Amino acid sequence: MWRLFFLGLIVWLAIYFFKQYIANIDSQKTNKTETTSHDNIENSQTTEDMVQCATCKVHLPRSEAYLVANNFYCSKTHIKNK
Ligand SMILES: [Zn+2]
Repeated sequence: MWRLFFLGLIVWLAIYFFKQYIANIDSQKTNKTETTSHDNIENSQTTEDMVQCATCKVHLPRSEAYLVANNFYCSKTHIKNK
């Protein structure tokens, strides 16, 4: 009778620790997906607007463009040529 009790206890412990192990893996997966989605948000925030040069129609990042009279230019020479 005691043997059966101990066997049941061992099986219960095995199931208990197995469930905790599975829960740990699940929480690690959740953390990873949260990090990935956070990275995606950061990437979309760092993606810069592209603007077009009014003279040569080339596309360039907004931070590299010259803004003169609501028109974007890729270089100072193109501002003079407008
Ligand atoms: Zn240009």
